[in-house]
Amino acid sequence: MALVRLADLMDQPAAGGFLRGVVAGGRFANAYLLHGPAGVGKGTAALAFARALLCERGAGARPAVRGDLFAAAQPAPAGPPLDDACGECNACRKTGDLQHPDLKFLFPVSGEERELDNVIIETVAAVRENPLFVFAYEKAASIRLSVTRELLRELSFQPFEAPRRVVVVRDADRMREDQYSALLKSIEEPGATVWVLTTSRPTRLPATIRSRCQRVRFAPLTEERVARFLAERAEVPAETARLVAALSGGSLSRALEMAAGDVQPARLRDEAMALLGPAASGDPVGLWKACQAYMKYGRTGREQLRRMIELHQLWLRDLLRAYAGAPRERLTHRDREAEIRRQAATITPTEVRRRLMVLEEALRSIDGNVTADLTLFSTLGRVAGARLGEGEWPSYSTARWDY
Ligand SMILES: [Zn+2]
Repeated sequence: MALVRLADLMDQPAAGGFLRGVVAGGRFANAYLLHGPAGVGKGTAALAFARALLCERGAGARPAVRGDLFAAAQPAPAGPPLDDACGECNACRKTGDLQHPDLKFLFPVSGEERELDNVIIETVAAVRENPLFVFAYEKAASIRLSVTRELLRELSFQPFEAPRRVVVVRDADRMREDQYSALLKSIEEPGATVWVLTTSRPTRLPATIRSRCQRVRFAPLTEERVARFLAERAEVPAETARLVAALSGGSLSRALEMAAGDVQPARLRDEAMALLGPAASGDPVGLWKACQAYMKYGRTGREQLRRMIELHQLWLRDLLRAYAGAPRERLTHRDREAEIRRQAATITPTEVRRRLMVLEEALRSIDGNVTADLTLFSTLGRVAGARLGEGEWPSYSTARWDY
């Protein structure tokens, strides 16, 4: 596979620049915590950072710090800059393949206990093959106790080949209390180990761990960047790429997952918009029937229902863009531009904002386990502006949508 280096990190100039500075400086903290939204490249960066630290031509190849004041003044060896992995040395070949004895890579897994060894081996192989590999976790996924135990045993020995060991722990918030206390000792002790933890939920990490890490913040990616990446590197058709990027919330892993899903986002969008038909024509019976057909979304497909609502929100945002005179390229649903312009001419921006709020409320109901068909029924009715049945509701419960 192509070795992913710090220089390859997308759209993370602050974090990338900081990590490269650390590599070039040759003085390392005991632990770094890479935090920020899921799917913006923290895991990739953690491995790239580890590679740079272990590279034989980098500043990291010097023995672990001993007030190394003069080292920095020495002329840099000829060849590639020292702030990243060279990609060519013996160590880089091994770290590129995730087979360097001094690079430890831990990540959460879930499933049957006796299968987990295989799951770990297969996952490492998948990451090796595909730098875009998307880690998807079940709720119960966690970093195995046996893995951290084994690691701690190993840490009591000297590193094998490099002057120091690098331990990358992906989604480090998925551990048990006793694992943290065991790791804490090692993180505190200055030694030959550099810890690189990642998390999208930093508050779930014990404060004792957080406070001992140098924190590195990652930002969400821009919509354009995600769309471009999907189209150029993941071979996603441009139309899909744009829709998916708009839905991704700046998370590349979420976008990749959606683009690879069974239901194409454009089709889902058309389905979502078609549902509005009976609501718009003021036909409650038709609307109820349409919603019942979506009961399959009740338990298993909450995610799909959520996506339909988000697509709908994007549609309404396009209406707002149309009012503002946005050109075609700025519309998310530009394949249905004529319809958007037509609707924008008949609905006021205030009404569009009211509908956006209704959808926002629907998203919250979905998270709060309200039945799917009921949610849909009331949402669609209100979004279509038909206000079906609203006459019978006490005004205090509807008033918040009137503005
Ligand atoms: Zn190298």
